[in-house]
Amino acid sequence: MSDRQGEYYRAVYTTFTRHPRPTLRFPPDIETEFNQMYADRYQLHIQIAGLLGLLALIAPTPWDYWMGFAGASAAWHIRIVASVFLMTCLAYSTQESSKKLQQPLITLNAAVCYFATLLVSEQFVPPISDYYAIGSTLVLISAFVISGLQFSWGKRAAILMSGLLGLHLWRLHASLELCTIQVFVMVLGSVFSLSGTYLMELSLRQNFLQSRLLALEHKTLEDTRLHLEILTSTDGLTRIANRRAFDENLQQEWMRQQRSETPLTLLMLDIDHFKQFNDHYGHPQGDACLQRIALTLADFARRPGDLAARYGGEEFVLLFPDTPLAHALPIGQKILEAISALEIPHALSSWGKVTASMGIASMIPQAALGAEQLILRADEALYQAKASGRNTLKQYLITAPRLKP
Ligand code: GH3
Ligand code: MG
Ligand code: MG
Repeated sequence: MSDRQGEYYRAVYTTFTRHPRPTLRFPPDIETEFNQMYADRYQLHIQIAGLLGLLALIAPTPWDYWMGFAGASAAWHIRIVASVFLMTCLAYSTQESSKKLQQPLITLNAAVCYFATLLVSEQFVPPISDYYAIGSTLVLISAFVISGLQFSWGKRAAILMSGLLGLHLWRLHASLELCTIQVFVMVLGSVFSLSGTYLMELSLRQNFLQSRLLALEHKTLEDTRLHLEILTSTDGLTRIANRRAFDENLQQEWMRQQRSETPLTLLMLDIDHFKQFNDHYGHPQGDACLQRIALTLADFARRPGDLAARYGGEEFVLLFPDTPLAHALPIGQKILEAISALEIPHALSSWGKVTASMGIASMIPQAALGAEQLILRADEALYQAKASGRNTLKQYLITAPRLKP
């Protein structure tokens, strides 16, 4: 996370908590993210609500017929049309693309079910017609409470349903008393339902911002931890692994190769006459030389598990797990050739350029020995390489210690 993103979310959270907008909307980018989360989280919930709505729509039919109501057949036809619409939307809701239309579809379905209930009520005579008409308020309340309608769409649904109620009353040429009761129930139902929706959505949105902030803060901490880990394991001058990283790696590989009984090989490299190089060309040139050599060495640590590190001063190490001495020798030779091929001038060397010496030690790690054996032997071999004229390599194959009888 960038700090700016964190700041942005924090500012939105503070504003939203202290002065929530009456519309409950976030700035557009966060609003899109919230709606995606909402659609994902409530898809199943909404489908279950839809199924319950379908059941409620069809369930009274047997009762209508059983009671022998005159309008039972016409009411059944209305219920069928509304149910088919509801089922089509339910089938569509199994598609991923439906999530974008989730809220308008809930609104439309709520309106269709509401109007269907009113039309059904028109098919009967009082007092049955009045019971069904009042039942439409149940549709309104359940649309708000269980169908996952957001506040902004809830307002639209309430307006749409008010219009449909007006249409119903007009078709009925309803009396003033009936109009008053129906409108009163409608207004009261809408106000209660919308208030509930508003409060629920407010706390849902606050939780959403809080969880986003927490996730972003967690990511910042993780990034900082990673950054620190890289800093503490990288050599500041050469940008390859440092001594600390090497020590850790050596212990790890030692154990691993011990388990798999495969050879672990260490190449220790020291630049020849580097003090004289520094004295002659200056420290900055010495630093540049170390950087170029480090870069060359890093090229040779190719396989997973291989490691090139700066051991200290002008000494470097390469650790090759699962590599026998016979395979490491030609690689060591190539490394010395590559350093020589850099053609870094060194007036005080008999080769006229910067060269290095190398000691290689290899063994299948043994429980009876420690990893420092490998360092000691590589150092010993390096000492021999220096003693035999430099710009060369020597090796040391450590064999298993004899077990006491
Ligand atoms: P030999 O061939 O026996 O290895 O001789 P040498 O001169 O390379 O070895 P010595 O240990 O006498 O000198 C090492 C030099 O490496 C001394 C020091 O100034 C130099 N050195 C160590 N670290 C750095 C560094 O970070 N930057 C620079 N420029 N020089 C460094
Ligand atoms: Mg040295
Ligand atoms: Mg040296």
